[in-house]
Amino acid sequence: MSSVRTRFAPSPTGALHAGTVRTALFAWLVAKKANGQFVLRIEDTDQARSIEGGVKNIIDSLSFIGIDWDEGPNKPSDFGPYVQSERLDKYQEFAQKLIKSGRAYADVSTKDELDKLRENAKQSKKPFLFRDYRPENPPVWNGSQPLRLMSNPKPYEWNDLVMGKMKSGAEAIDDFILIKSDGFPTYNFAHIVDDFLMKVTHVIRSQEFISSVPRFLNLYEALGFEAPKMATLPPVLDTTGKRKLSKREGAKQVLEYRDMGIMPEALMNFVALLGWNDGTTQEIFSKEELIQKFDLSRVQKGGAQFREDQLIFLNGVYIRKLSLDELHSRVSDFWPESATEFDDDYKKKVLSVIQERLKYFSEITELTPFFFKDLPVDMKLIDENKFLKSLDKSQLKELLNKTKASLVSSDFSVEDLTYKLNNLLTEQDQKPAVLFSLIRIATTQAASSPGLADTMSVLGKEKSIARIDTMINALS
Ligand code: GLU
Repeated sequence: MSSVRTRFAPSPTGALHAGTVRTALFAWLVAKKANGQFVLRIEDTDQARSIEGGVKNIIDSLSFIGIDWDEGPNKPSDFGPYVQSERLDKYQEFAQKLIKSGRAYADVSTKDELDKLRENAKQSKKPFLFRDYRPENPPVWNGSQPLRLMSNPKPYEWNDLVMGKMKSGAEAIDDFILIKSDGFPTYNFAHIVDDFLMKVTHVIRSQEFISSVPRFLNLYEALGFEAPKMATLPPVLDTTGKRKLSKREGAKQVLEYRDMGIMPEALMNFVALLGWNDGTTQEIFSKEELIQKFDLSRVQKGGAQFREDQLIFLNGVYIRKLSLDELHSRVSDFWPESATEFDDDYKKKVLSVIQERLKYFSEITELTPFFFKDLPVDMKLIDENKFLKSLDKSQLKELLNKTKASLVSSDFSVEDLTYKLNNLLTEQDQKPAVLFSLIRIATTQAASSPGLADTMSVLGKEKSIARIDTMINALS
């Protein structure tokens, strides 16, 4: 068994976004590749910010994209529990150890006092460091005050598996809070205790924590722990490539992509490429290939652009790779209501003509209604069509009558329809843009559709001709 253990440690403070899930994916890939374990840990020590349904959202999102965990809140194992609010006794135990060794003390300062000290530091243009104002005789910690680390200021050098050699000076070290006055540990303390107890070997996380690493190193030393390997992922940027991806700027929730009909394989492939490549120009990676090829040493240091258009493009590629049966079984939640009464064979025929152009499953709702019900004639489609608007009604009617006359003898196979439609073009001396647009509008009441012969073949003779009749009447 490999000793590699990684974790994803989200806080249930909001829905998991597609940029954030990258941290989970990279940590999962590192564990999978090494035949190690991947742990899901819920960091809910900021009780005020935890939201209802937060944990379920995390679990559903990871499950959707295809990231599974060996240990986690719903997968108990030796190192649990995996929810921080259920581990308070463990933080207390290590807090007491630090107190005993003289490395933690009760902080009795009031907010007013702290504000004043901060203000003084600002006036004298010095950074505020709590350690400059340590109380001389702190009382015994009774749990009602914050507990602070008695830091040991010193410079550090460490190696980040992505960012490379890192360095910090003593000024980066301060006495930070380990346990808050509400009895909950801070992230800074809890994650260090947990990573140690859960035997995490690689801490893979986002940018925002890199400036705190010197403090973490100081705490590892105070606790006598060996620091795990650390990897800091590059920021995820929005489409402009200039700003950090944010909820306001285009970062969708993982579950929104599910509801839109993005395939999990495509999403995983797309997320993997947010700051990683295998050194070639390959863009399509199966899950197995990612596990085999992923390596932190090929994660870039600079920001990764989140381009949703790229995701949609990839999704189309994945959709086209599906067999008709697979596609059919995947889209069951995306049919328009009018499709309910139609059988699977008919739905598969519909899918066979749209598969080529389908970019995500929820498009089915807009692309297919005419396959399932007769839509009212919409004259605007003709009035607004640049090839048709110059023709008068009698010309349009004439063209439709000729079409009907030709199609009544068709068996409505795609081949025969193609042949007859092309003949009509020659006979009527018309351009496809004119004649086919008109027939398309008549049979689908839509401005665009899959190939005309394909579409009409699926609709069948009866329906297609009846709709042409309806349009002829409407033009009369
Ligand atoms: N709870 C932290 C977050 O959600 C985890 C950071 C880490 O991976 O250590 O940002």
